[in-house]
Amino acid sequence: MSDAVARTGALPLPEFSDESQGVQRPLGLWRGGPQGQSPSAFPRRALLAAPALLLPRPAAAVTFPERGLTQGGFVVGQAVPGTRLALDGRAVRVSAEGAFAFGFGRDHGAASVLSVTQPGQRAEDRRLAIVRRQWQEQRISGLPPAQVTPDEATLARILRERERLGVARATDSALTGFAHGFIAPASGRISGVFGSRRVLNGQPRQPHYGLDFAVPTGTPMLAVAPGRVTLAESFHFFGDLLMIDHGHGVNSLYAHLSRIDVREGQMVGKGERIALSGATGRVTGPHLHFSLSWYQVWLDPQPVVLGA
Ligand SMILES: [Zn+2]
Repeated sequence: MSDAVARTGALPLPEFSDESQGVQRPLGLWRGGPQGQSPSAFPRRALLAAPALLLPRPAAAVTFPERGLTQGGFVVGQAVPGTRLALDGRAVRVSAEGAFAFGFGRDHGAASVLSVTQPGQRAEDRRLAIVRRQWQEQRISGLPPAQVTPDEATLARILRERERLGVARATDSALTGFAHGFIAPASGRISGVFGSRRVLNGQPRQPHYGLDFAVPTGTPMLAVAPGRVTLAESFHFFGDLLMIDHGHGVNSLYAHLSRIDVREGQMVGKGERIALSGATGRVTGPHLHFSLSWYQVWLDPQPVVLGA
């Protein structure tokens, strides 16, 4: 019983509108290493071969925009091909061309360590400062109790669906759709932001891990980046939902759909129409709930799909 209650506290929730906007951070570029480059990382032969005045600026081993170094932040970067990366001890997949991605959860601590190993060199650890963010609180009272605390059968279904979602998000493919930039899945007023705390009938519930677009039922939904459809199913809270794997653990999720136009396993292009929005699942009105994740870590989609 207490276990069921504890689990309920971490369940996804029905959707409620919220007018708030997320924090936007300025774009910067982080370059790895002291002064951007350790001397040993620079190819010596290139130095000797090039006339001094024509020396190129040394390329950093790893580059990525600094704006992703926040709670809920998403980072897409470029490494010298063959570089190995690990974030807090966990290997980060690097494509043959050197593209990589990682992210930080809503409640991430103040720092992370990125370990960079260039081909034929020793690992260099770089400390990344992770900017703390303020999350809004959403208090909603007077809800029907069944909507706040699901019955046993519903709870069992919800837990099965969470498992399905977890498995889909664990997909670790070599696709590189994430490296080609993201577009918005729809255009519309933002009615719910990432990270807001929710207190329903006085009981704290799981934060909102998506970005809500207030769009009428029947609005075309676009794939935010190229990828492969990993889920096309009907869920209790999310209603009809789609998940797309963009490679290297990066997933996008589209929920409360009224129609799904793609199949599991299908490859989709960036901007391709994949579904129509709706009001399926636990909602108070039609909208798109859109989420982005890096493996099991939910990320703030707003700076990624809407830009700064
Ligand atoms: Zn939502």
